[in-house]
Amino acid sequence: MKLLEDRIRKDGLVRDTDVLKVDSFLNHQLDVSLLNSIGEEFYRIYKDEGITKIVTVEASGIAIASLTGIHFNVPVVFAKKAKSKNIEGDVYTSKVHSFTYGRDYDVTISKKFLSEKDRVLLIDDFLANGKAMRGLLDICEQAGASVAGIGICIEKEFQGGGDELRSQGYHLTSLARITKMTENEIEFSERE
Ligand code: 5GP
Repeated sequence: MKLLEDRIRKDGLVRDTDVLKVDSFLNHQLDVSLLNSIGEEFYRIYKDEGITKIVTVEASGIAIASLTGIHFNVPVVFAKKAKSKNIEGDVYTSKVHSFTYGRDYDVTISKKFLSEKDRVLLIDDFLANGKAMRGLLDICEQAGASVAGIGICIEKEFQGGGDELRSQGYHLTSLARITKMTENEIEFSERE
């Protein structure tokens, strides 16, 4: 998506060769007009898939998922990064290794909000090693929900998570795919 690539080139900041900061428009301060265009693009790609729910993980995924949900007119559910225990057995839980913080955390979704009747579009801001997405896929499997697709804003291709998911047959769409980045330059793969 040219609009997103141009914005990353203009306002993205590379840290430590593998972390891209986009907090001036995507995950801290939000350019809602850009997010709306992202949502529109995901709708264009997945509109015929019978999506009943958009699922993401807090916090950065929520705004993107919400502006995607508007176009599909379906509920948005975000997995919580939980500290509380699953005493009542009323939540689905999966363990995720955080790329940005270098530690494990649990993600949970209440059983009330996801079931085998759901056909899900998974959304996130970044795809790196794919651990966050694995957690969401695990939760969908526990719920018996079917996964129609995965929509990512920025995939860092060189970290391999995307290739792994594609080779397993998931319909993964990344709107900007970075092949290489340095402090001075960000390279994108050819748009499909
Ligand atoms: P993965 O689980 O695929 O390794 O990493 C994806 C998650 O880590 C995303 O939910 C995102 O919040 C965070 N993340 C991964 N890489 C980056 C990055 O370069 N910049 C930012 N801001 N977040 C990232």
